[in-house]
Amino acid sequence: MERKIDYSIARRRMVQEQLAARDITDRRILEAFMEVPRHLFLDEAIGARAYDDCSFPIGYSQTISQPYIQALMLQYLSINPQDRVLEIGTGSGYLTAILSLLSKEVFSVERMGALSRNAEEVLSRISTGRIRLKTGDGSNGWEFYAPFDRIIVSAAMAEGPDMLLAQLKDEGMMIAPVVSDNEHLILFRKRAGAVASERLSRCAFVPLLKGVE
Ligand code: SAH
Repeated sequence: MERKIDYSIARRRMVQEQLAARDITDRRILEAFMEVPRHLFLDEAIGARAYDDCSFPIGYSQTISQPYIQALMLQYLSINPQDRVLEIGTGSGYLTAILSLLSKEVFSVERMGALSRNAEEVLSRISTGRIRLKTGDGSNGWEFYAPFDRIIVSAAMAEGPDMLLAQLKDEGMMIAPVVSDNEHLILFRKRAGAVASERLSRCAFVPLLKGVE
């Protein structure tokens, strides 16, 4: 029998104390974090700690980021409800679920087949917006569905993100942790074919790796 524990109090505290009490002011983002059951994307033994102010292992040496960092990246990206979003690094699928509530459709690429399949299974159990997942090397983006209004990268890129920027629409924005930029979050904006980049806060992410597993 499936254990049904109500984590909505833990979830509300997470939203109030870790997001709203800091600098997350976008109501749609706060509502999305209130809606998605983060604990389902983590090991059951983690329980209510899924809503703690920290990252957690999701298996295969990968981690789900701290909720605040995820919310901050989303706030910088200012996603519109009609946007098509490309996500690199599906991981647990938690951010994919959040993204789907903020946009029209999410296309998410993960290099580890086992993580992608697990994310698909969890996502099928909750109500989300439109989501397409695939196993692949996200450094190449997802050409078939390009161009995208927004791109979010959840693993630290060592090299220039030219391949991904090529799949960004004009007036589009992309956020990525970039190692060569001293591991800072970088916000890229495309305007009239030219790309401007802005260095945001420092961050620590698992590395973007080559190939699929
Ligand atoms: N946002 C995710 C956490 C992602 S951790 C969540 O909410 O759970 C970063 C993920 O990027 C890991 O799952 C890792 O396997 C994946 N990754 C690393 N390199 C990649 C690549 N080249 N293409 C696609 N995914 C990659």
